Amino acid sequence: MAVAAALSALLLGCRAAVEPPDPRTGRPDRPQVLTTFLPITLFTRAVAGDCAEVTALIPAASGPHDFQARPGDVAAIRNARVLVKNGLGMESFLDKLVEAAGNPALKVIDSSRGIATLENPQEPRGDHPDGHDHDQGQGPINPHIWLDPVRAAQQVETIRDGLIAADPACADGYRRHAAAFTGELRRLNTDFEKQLAPFRGKTFVVVHDFAPYFAERYGLRVQYLVGVPEQNPSPADLARVVDTVKNTQLKALLTEPQQGNRSFNALAGDLGIRISVFDPMETGTERASRIPASYGEVMRRNVTDLVRAFR
Ligand SMILES: [Zn+2]
Repeated sequence: MAVAAALSALLLGCRAAVEPPDPRTGRPDRPQVLTTFLPITLFTRAVAGDCAEVTALIPAASGPHDFQARPGDVAAIRNARVLVKNGLGMESFLDKLVEAAGNPALKVIDSSRGIATLENPQEPRGDHPDGHDHDQGQGPINPHIWLDPVRAAQQVETIRDGLIAADPACADGYRRHAAAFTGELRRLNTDFEKQLAPFRGKTFVVVHDFAPYFAERYGLRVQYLVGVPEQNPSPADLARVVDTVKNTQLKALLTEPQQGNRSFNALAGDLGIRISVFDPMETGTERASRIPASYGEVMRRNVTDLVRAFR
């Protein structure tokens, strides 16, 4: 009896409460893992599988650029064992919440750790006679690393290592799940290299500045109307996109499904070209947020639409 008690104390470490085994895994005390926005939720769910309970802090329909914290968020962070973020300033609301939650045991996984980053443009890109900060809302580093499948795989591996550190009891599960998902990301990358190879050096146009990592990976150039989704384009921004379309013979502008930027769509009409879609996955449906494979589905659709815009 004494041996059993000592053994159980050893296994449980300093955890005070012993929860009943989870019916799905037979494991007691599945860790509560919080994520921030959609791609981070998908990557974390892919790695966690049945080893951890994953909950998104940001509702799938809300984007991270303009997220306003809600009263329950502090409590959610207080009750979590792990918090997974994209990093690179994408979740600028987060530090204050974590501080307010006062959860010293919380492990924060910054999935951007070690990833080669690209800087945002330093100079305003257009003429702004009113002198307002053109790139307002953007940090010095572009945060949209998840749209490059190779960097996405690095994020998945960082999430894997963080979850193993926080919950070594399920290490084999985290390793197995992560390997399956990074395998799929590598297949995506190989397929995209083939599909996009004929268009190397070509330019495409998106609404906000989300595509530099994707473009760099496949030897493409990208132009955008605005820095962040909430920004209104200046006349100079519009003129820049018009010039790009005229100089490149683009057949379509790539709008965002949830953004539907009116001036961007009107511009395509004025230029007599089509509107297509490149989904940066900053938002999505609640249902998609539960299925890690939806990352690959959306990215494949993005590349198919992009190829059509080039042709
Ligand atoms: Zn963005």
